[in-house]
Order: sequence, then structure tokens, then C-alpha cells
Amino acid sequence: MTGETNPFESLQSQIDDAAGHLDVGEGVIERLKHPERVLETTLTVELDDGSTELFTAFRSQFNGDRGPYKGGIRYHPDVSRDEVKALSGWMVYKCAVVGIPYGGGKGGIVIDPDDYSAAELERVTRAFATELRPFIGVDKDIPAPDVNTGQREMNWIKDTYETLENTTEPGVITGKNISSGGSEGRVEATGRSTAITSREAFDYLGMDLSEATVAVQGYGNAGWNAAKLLEEMGATIVAASDSSGGIYNPDGFDPIAAKAYKNETGQLVGYEESTERLTTEEVLTLDVDLVIPAALENAIDGELAEAVEADVIAEAANGPLTPRADDVLTERGVFVVPDILANAGGVTVSYFEWVQNRQRFYWSEQRVNEELEAIIVDAFDALVETIDEHDLDSARTAAYVVALQRVADAYEEAGSFP
Ligand code: NAD
Repeated sequence: MTGETNPFESLQSQIDDAAGHLDVGEGVIERLKHPERVLETTLTVELDDGSTELFTAFRSQFNGDRGPYKGGIRYHPDVSRDEVKALSGWMVYKCAVVGIPYGGGKGGIVIDPDDYSAAELERVTRAFATELRPFIGVDKDIPAPDVNTGQREMNWIKDTYETLENTTEPGVITGKNISSGGSEGRVEATGRSTAITSREAFDYLGMDLSEATVAVQGYGNAGWNAAKLLEEMGATIVAASDSSGGIYNPDGFDPIAAKAYKNETGQLVGYEESTERLTTEEVLTLDVDLVIPAALENAIDGELAEAVEADVIAEAANGPLTPRADDVLTERGVFVVPDILANAGGVTVSYFEWVQNRQRFYWSEQRVNEELEAIIVDAFDALVETIDEHDLDSARTAAYVVALQRVADAYEEAGSFP
């Protein structure tokens, strides 16, 4: 990762790229480049040895014109105010591009969860939930998981909120365990939309996914589920990486067995079906048909983009390309399925979870997957129509044209207050 590019500046430059194709006032665009508010808080938490430690945490509420703020909570040592602001903005445009009735938000705590016990992480999470309580709510702001958080943390936040509010409101947060009000299909939803949009992109380009080779960077929730579903669609997974490094087998390997190995040992490197060990950069520049970046922001910079050999990149991660990398790949004719569509399955099934929570009526996994498929395919079709209508060479710009117009319309229809 380059680490040099500020993700908030990336978001703003993506908006600028699309603005010229839109029929909205300059003031409206400027407003859509900044968050409405950002909470910064210092959590004081007791550790297992009786000492206390302070943790910095953020929640950015970027835009609420289309509905309540919605977006995950990340635990990572590199979390920063600007990263959270960028991620909250991407959520706005993600929800708009798939047409679900939410604005965008995002939160994060500056912490390396590997350094703390489960009991300490629970206290950190409950401290954050207590700070968030006045700002979140089923019609206000609905958090969800992101990097290094999952069902366990969501259950703790729900429990803290419900206890303090003396109520039952599972829809205050999504990504919960099924028994705590979670939805079927949520865990694999991000990987599923990545796989569906990859399939649609191959169709659009006249290529055959069942003959495709795939490399995946980041083998967590988003990456590994994308690999599993792409394999079910007939593609061959030849490489994958996690923070321990990369594995490669030109003949392909079983993505489920690779995940089982990672679960057992904590890393992919060493997996017996791998014939060669690669760096994470080498995984991104392999001679494959499809690359899935599914780790963190800025995984591919301008220099690395020159070395990319794939025809298609589907961004399971948020913001994996720097703006320079995006320009290089567009010039080189690589089709990039943008993050705000490729990984929108996560928030779409979060939306289904919220709908089910509010109705107290739960759907089958089959229904969840069918509704998700319909929303993602419709959104991909709208993107392709916009590419043709505006004669665009970037699917990302097309996605922002669709999304910004929807948010701007909602803002202009509502008028300004005060
Ligand atoms: P995760 O914590 O489950 O997995 C992250 C993976 O990336 C891990 O396997 C980790 O080892 C690996 N990784 C970290 N640094 C790496 C590096 N330098 N090279 C290679 N691998 C590296 O996280 P996740 O939930 O899968 O999220 C991954 C990305 O997907 C993030 O950008 C996140 O914002 C995005 N995303 C996730 C969801 C979701 O529902 N989980 C939804 C939308 C977007």
C-alpha cells in the first residue's frame, strides 16, 4: 500500500470527475464533497490488568438527503478522521447507486484488535456505543461491520443501545448474528455483489467468466466470499493474499480449503495447494483476467497500475485505487467495476436486515439472494446505460454520475433549511 494518498481527497476528485456530466448547481456539488458532521471522541477503557487506556474514535455522518446515515465501523491502527470521512462519503454514493433509501456514515476506532483480549474489545466497543447513542437510531444512523469488526461487535453495540434506551430495536445496527436479528446472506453479501458485478462486466465486455483466472488481494470477509462465489460461477482462483503474503497456483486452488487453512493457522502462506509464494503486490500484477482488491485503500498506485495485466478489476475493498492508478488503468483500457457498486451487496443486505428488523418478519436465504441479485444487476445496467449515454471511458465516473444526480435531486426537491 502506498499510504501517500489521502482517501478523502480521492473521494473529492472522483466527485469532480463526474460533476461535469451533471445538470446540478456548483454549490450543490461542493456540498456533496463534505460531511455534514464528524464526531471525534476519546474512549477511556479499563484493561484486564486494571490499568486504563485512551482510544480515539470517530463517526462521520456525510449526507442524509436520501435517508438515515448508514455505514460500518472499522477497528484499525491507521484509522484517521480523513479516512472515516472518505469512507462515509463512499457510503452515500454506494447507497444511491443501488437505489436503497439511506445516506452515508462511517465510524472507526484507532486500535489494533490483535493486541487486546475479547473482554477488553467488548469494553472498548460498549464505550464507543455509549458515545454513539445520541447520534444513532433506527431512523437516524445505522452502523454495521467493516474491517476487523463483525457480528460479535454488532451484537455488543445493539445490546448497549437497547439497554441504555430501555427498548428492543435490533434495526439500530446491521450485520448481527441471525439469533440477534441478523439476516440470512449478510456475511457473504459483499463477496456476492463483487462476483455478480464481475460476471456482468465480463458479459458486457464479451468475455467468458467461466474461462477466467482470478487473483484476490485480501482474504477476509469480502475477498474470500468473492473467491468462493466466482469459483461457483466457473472461474479459476489462481492467487490470493492476506497480510502474511500471497499464494499462487497457475492451475487454480480450492478457495474453501484455502480459507479453512487460514482459519486454522491464521494465514494463507503455507497453504499446501499453493505452488509459489508471492508478495501482495505480485498478486495484483499477475497475468490473470480478473483482479479483486479486497483489503484496504490505496492498494494500487500509479506505478503498480502500469504493471497490472488483468482486463477487469472489481473493487471489493473501498478505495483500493489511487486517483492516479485509476487514470492509468482507464488509459490502458482496464474495466474497473467501482467499489460503490462492486461491494454494495454488503449494505444492500444490511438494508434487507433493517427492513426485516422493522417488520419483525424474516426472509429465507433464497429470497435475500434473489432480491440482492435483482438490485445489483439493475444497478449495473444503469451504469452501462450511463457509460453509453455520456460516452464515458470510466465505469466509476458513470457510477458517480448516477449517484450524485440521485442525491442532488433529493436535496433540491427537499429545499434548504434554515
Ligand atoms: P476483513 O478484516 O474481514 O479482511 C481484510 C483482509 O485483508 C484480511 O485477510 C487481511 O489479512 C487482509 N489484508 C490486510 N492488509 C493486507 C495487505 N497489505 N495485503 C493483502 N491483504 C491484506 O475485512 P473485510 O470486511 O473483508 O473488508 C475488506 C475491504 O472490503 C475493506 O476495504 C472494507 O471497507 C470493504 N468492504 C467490506 C464490507 C463487508 O461487508 N465486510 C462491505 C463493503 C466493503
